[in-house]
Amino acid sequence: MKLSRRRFSLLAGVATAGLAMPRVARAQAKPRVVIVGGGAGGATVARYIAKEQVGAVNVTLIEANAEFTSCFFSNHYIGGYRDFASITHRYDTLVSSYGISLVTGRAVAVDRAAKAVMMHDGARIAYDRLVISPGIDLIYDSVSGYSEAAAELMPHAWKGGAQTKLLKSKLDAVRNGQNILIVPPPNPYRCPPAPYERASIFAHVLTVKGYTDCKIIILDPKEKFAKQALFQEGWQKYYPGMIEWYGPDVHGGIESVDPTAGAVITDLDTFKGALVNVIPAQRAGEIAASAGLADGTGYCPIDPHSMKSQLDKSIYIIGDACIAGDMSKSAFAANSQAKVAAMHIRSELMGSGALPAEYSNICWSVIETDDAVKVGAQYRAGDDGIKSVSSFISHTGEEAGLRKRNYDDAIGWYMQISNDMFGAPGG
Ligand code: FAD
Repeated sequence: MKLSRRRFSLLAGVATAGLAMPRVARAQAKPRVVIVGGGAGGATVARYIAKEQVGAVNVTLIEANAEFTSCFFSNHYIGGYRDFASITHRYDTLVSSYGISLVTGRAVAVDRAAKAVMMHDGARIAYDRLVISPGIDLIYDSVSGYSEAAAELMPHAWKGGAQTKLLKSKLDAVRNGQNILIVPPPNPYRCPPAPYERASIFAHVLTVKGYTDCKIIILDPKEKFAKQALFQEGWQKYYPGMIEWYGPDVHGGIESVDPTAGAVITDLDTFKGALVNVIPAQRAGEIAASAGLADGTGYCPIDPHSMKSQLDKSIYIIGDACIAGDMSKSAFAANSQAKVAAMHIRSELMGSGALPAEYSNICWSVIETDDAVKVGAQYRAGDDGIKSVSSFISHTGEEAGLRKRNYDDAIGWYMQISNDMFGAPGG
């Protein structure tokens, strides 16, 4: 059959439209997953969705900073076991190898009705599913006299970055015979054993220098603390007479701090230190609260089967910001929760199916070189939150070989989680 020019043009038009329309429709229909926070939870969920869906989902990662300095293993940096570069990571591989769109900037609000994240510069980023993993914010005035400005004199170093460096420089300036004070936070907070690992690390650094006349005094608002028997045994063994822990029944309550005097005023006495490490109370990162996703505890209730917010069915909340039942707030936990969230998001958007949620957590703490202790558990979704189904903890009096294996396992874990969050270098 011979085609007239007009009929050919018509057919060509239809054909072009026929080819073009599904492409446009497909592009528009490509689901959009937006993640706020590129830390242990957020970077992991971004990578797991992007790697499983290879281009079928638009994944956008919003992160306030161009680089991520991990709080986990910051004590290893402070102890001189590794350099700052080794706890600092970039997002390049997530962009180049996984096709994730990286937006460097602060998210300031969530328009839940319109399903869009509002950025500091006025930009709006639309989503079909949103993951919030902003970590914690510090409640500075939970300690009277403490503030963001006071943190320059009495560093908390409970967020990775400049504070971590400041704490190390202040530790390195301590001279033999001077005191260090630590004021740990009340529960619940990021990484329960970390203030006590930090005390061990301070003592290690001072002991290496021969500064064994220094004292590290811990003025705790809590009556007991994580891995207490293990730490206290280790302090006695490696740093005799250097670390003193006072609970509220001894100091009677922390009344205030005086940053310029380097003083912590308690009901019992006024303590002075050349270095004062104040770690205030904590809550979910501000964006979670401003989006109306937190409850009266300051943290965000979630469905333990999926990590979905109990308050918004298009939003998932993972990591330190969520209320994770029996799971403590750790990078290991955030990474584990991220994988459950990724599975459910893929299932909802791509129909890929979801298995029952299983979570795990292991937290190692260094007491001295080659001597680390650990606590860990497996978890499942229960009727009223994430529930521990089996757990383990190191014992006092363990042989040195076992502690050395823990120490090596911890170092191996750091490499493994870094690759799991950011993609293996060159990967
Ligand atoms: P984060 O990892 O803190 O990530 C949050 C990210 O969100 C940050 O990069 C932040 O910049 C970004 N962000 C926040 N708000 C916004 C916004 N509005 N817009 C854009 N970006 C935003 N855990 C372990 O498992 N093992 C350990 O050995 C361990 N040791 C620790 C030692 C110390 C001293 C401390 C303080 C913590 C330790 N942790 C450890 C705990 C661990 O650091 C946290 O539990 C973990 O990082 C939580 O992950 P997350 O994704 O919730 O938050």
